[in-house]
Amino acid sequence: MADVLFSRGVPGGRRSQRRTLGLLAAWGLLLLLAAVGFCYRLLTTSFADAEAQAVGQRADQVLRAFGADLQQLAIAAHDYAEWDDAVQFLADRNRDFVNANLVPNTLDALHVDVVWIRDRAGGTVWSGWYDRAAGKVVEPAPAALLDSVAAYARADSPWLNADPLQKLVVTGQGPMAFAIREISQSDRSRPTGNVLLFGRLVDRDLLERVRTTSHLPANLHALPADDAALPLAVRSWLRGAASATTFVQVADQKSIDGFALVHSRSGTPALVFSVRQPRAIYALGVDTTRLLLGCIVLLFLLFGGTLLYLLAQLQRAKRSSERRYRNVAAHLGEAILLVDPVTLKVVEANDAVSRLLGYRTTELGTLTVLQIFTDLTAGTLAHAAEAGPEGRIVTSRTRRKDGALGDTELSITQLADSAERLLVMVGRDVGHRRAALEEQQENERKLIHLAQHDSLTGLPNRLYLRTRLPALLQKLSEQERGLVLIYVDVDQFKNFNDSRGHAFGDRMLQVVARRLRSVVSEHDSVVRMGGDEFVIVLTMQPERDKVEGVVARLRETLSEPLHIEGTEIVVTASMGVAMHPQDGLDMDVLLKHADIALYLAKDAGRNCHRYFKANMEVRVSEDMALEQAMRHGLGTDQFYMEYQPVVDLATNRVCSLEALMRWRHPDMGIVPPARFIPVAERSGMILPLGEQALVTVLAQLRDWQAAKVPCVPVAVNVSALQLERSEFALTVRQRADEAGVDPRWLHFEITESALLREQEQIVHKLTQLRELGCEVLIDDFGTGYSALSYLHRLPVDGLKIDRSFVVEMARTGGQSAIIAAIVKIARELKLSVIVEGVETAEQLMMLREYRCAAAQGFFFSKPIPATRCTRLLQRLDDVQRASESTTVRVLRGSDLSLAG
Ligand code: C2E
Ligand code: CA
Ligand code: CA
Repeated sequence: MADVLFSRGVPGGRRSQRRTLGLLAAWGLLLLLAAVGFCYRLLTTSFADAEAQAVGQRADQVLRAFGADLQQLAIAAHDYAEWDDAVQFLADRNRDFVNANLVPNTLDALHVDVVWIRDRAGGTVWSGWYDRAAGKVVEPAPAALLDSVAAYARADSPWLNADPLQKLVVTGQGPMAFAIREISQSDRSRPTGNVLLFGRLVDRDLLERVRTTSHLPANLHALPADDAALPLAVRSWLRGAASATTFVQVADQKSIDGFALVHSRSGTPALVFSVRQPRAIYALGVDTTRLLLGCIVLLFLLFGGTLLYLLAQLQRAKRSSERRYRNVAAHLGEAILLVDPVTLKVVEANDAVSRLLGYRTTELGTLTVLQIFTDLTAGTLAHAAEAGPEGRIVTSRTRRKDGALGDTELSITQLADSAERLLVMVGRDVGHRRAALEEQQENERKLIHLAQHDSLTGLPNRLYLRTRLPALLQKLSEQERGLVLIYVDVDQFKNFNDSRGHAFGDRMLQVVARRLRSVVSEHDSVVRMGGDEFVIVLTMQPERDKVEGVVARLRETLSEPLHIEGTEIVVTASMGVAMHPQDGLDMDVLLKHADIALYLAKDAGRNCHRYFKANMEVRVSEDMALEQAMRHGLGTDQFYMEYQPVVDLATNRVCSLEALMRWRHPDMGIVPPARFIPVAERSGMILPLGEQALVTVLAQLRDWQAAKVPCVPVAVNVSALQLERSEFALTVRQRADEAGVDPRWLHFEITESALLREQEQIVHKLTQLRELGCEVLIDDFGTGYSALSYLHRLPVDGLKIDRSFVVEMARTGGQSAIIAAIVKIARELKLSVIVEGVETAEQLMMLREYRCAAAQGFFFSKPIPATRCTRLLQRLDDVQRASESTTVRVLRGSDLSLAG
């Protein structure tokens, strides 16, 4: 069975099944014939035996009839011998006795052929032979007859009184039986010593009597005369089997002969009776046997035929079901293998297996499944066999004939019946699954890479950091090693990005990313956290000296001039450093601390770095407390405005006021704007605060105008957020309407850096403000890196040159090329110029030389409360054109002569 493989049906099998059936039938038939032959022989033989026995009995019957006949001879002899008349005859020899008793009539009735009366000496008293043919008694009887019995006819003979059947002699006239008696008185009182002998010749008459008595058609053969006429077998029986008295022999098909033998007194065969019988018993036996066996054969044939028919039907049904099954198996996409559970060899397989494995079905028989399915083990198969009807499903690497590897999902079950146990393996090619899985994994890897990397710079991103850093920290903690985290923020990136466009900004970030990357080793990571923020993760000893070296290199690399779109810029960055483990053990804490350090680096004026310190957190939490306090104070008089005059340097008159916010907290006291404004801007609180400032200023203007105080325009500081987040111009108009103040009395100061954001929108919003009649000034001009050439595109009315330039001027011995240049350009662009932070007369003198139009600073006046301002305005109103010193005096409040 091991190499019989299905797949294309098995036509040879069908033929062999037929042959088996035929052979079975032939054998059955042969066996039947042998059995029938044997039974036939057995039965007919026993019938023949029975018949022979019956015929033997017939022969015996003839013999007994013969005996009975002779018995009468004995009786007759007895009657005559024990008779007083006979004794008398011996005495007187009177012929009357002879004439009365031994005459033909009497002898004929007694069937006696010879009568011999002998005396004691053996002499003949009387003898006679009844010549039947002549019908007379011949006296004396012929000597030949008497001689044959002379030895026995004596009174002392042992044969006296014996059964005449045993006293047969052969005479010249044929066999003769005789009876001898001693003659005596009827009462046996006087034995005479004379004997009487009656002889009876065995002749046709006797035969007739035997026939009559026995009712059988007996025949008589006298020996040795008739010897030759007897059949050979009978003759040899006569010679050999002298003891047996009967013998049976089949004469021909129809008849059977029984023979009975009678010996002579001398012991030689003397007489043979034969009796012929029809073979009725045998014939009946044969007929019965034939009928019986015929019936049996018929029954057997009927039964056998039916059995064969049924077997054939069964096989046909089995074959057709098998054919269906094979067809199904052959057409199935699934590979089906039947496996011997002991040798693990393939016993059968369908076409799909060839397709799956590339082997021909005949080749499979030489393989074990472990050679084909390389992940399978004998253990797996044993488990599957024990798993019950559900079996097991496993997936295995699969080696094809050509050596290629695939994957197959196998369902393994055990098929067990009483005849054999088999493992059934149904396999499905799941190579596509692996491909799909690999593709999916590859896609996932790509997705993860995409998700964890920044498309612009190619650096890993925040998600990457979140995924990797905790594990890295864990590992470093276990190895008692440190780590340094540097939070990097590109200074002024937003300005570059907004002013030069996003392409420029992107390019800049790419270069920065590359430069940062170039400084650190490949074991370290540079992560883009978003916008212009980067985090550098350094697996190094967390020692300041070493970190200092890295920071210096970072700074050095970044500070290399950068050429983008034909312009050269210099990039600086602020950095916050946090170290593991001293500044925190987990990622979130470390990142937060690095961020705080960065926050303070920025707060310290950027382009520097800070190491995280515990108290920094205090600073941050202070900011939060401040924000909280601000929220409480919002809308109350904790917040109020002070006003700082701006002096027109041509007329020395106050030409405008700058409104500056003040916060007096009940506990903290005065909180400087430099402290709370950035917090308000970061938290968004600047929006309500800014509006409060606007409303306060408008109320003040309304009051002044109502009180007929000679007014000047008031400049209000506006933060970038206010412009971005609100319909600022609309708010201004509404609030101005509410206050009943013409918006022309308002100037707005917007820092240069704020103006550089979202240019389009800002331009639009500034235009709206100017349409209301408000003037727009660029605050802190010169610090925002804005190109002067942009100025003509901005809808502004003037510039406020940053205080730092005035300070710079003092340091360089009273010279400021920058201020000079700005003033020159501003004039060309028809923009007004206010110089901030003028503290000394020398500075003012210098500025006059540069032909600055207006100035503001402590030299004239610090910001002052509204009430003081009211008085100031009223007094200055009288002065049409004052000298600088007068103005200064008035503003400082030292010259009261101006009053009135
Ligand atoms: P800023 O707009 O540049 O205001 C001028 C700042 O310079 C004021 O500081 C003023 O007191 C100070 N100052 C004027 N002359 C001199 C001088 O000769 N020497 C020195 N050392 N300083 C002088 P202040 O009032 O502390 O305000 C600081 C900043 O807070 C302002 O700078 C402004 O940016 C912001 N700020 C003040 N009030 C408001 C407001 O209502 N809204 C907004 N958004 N920002 C405001
Ligand atoms: Ca200002
Ligand atoms: Ca300013």
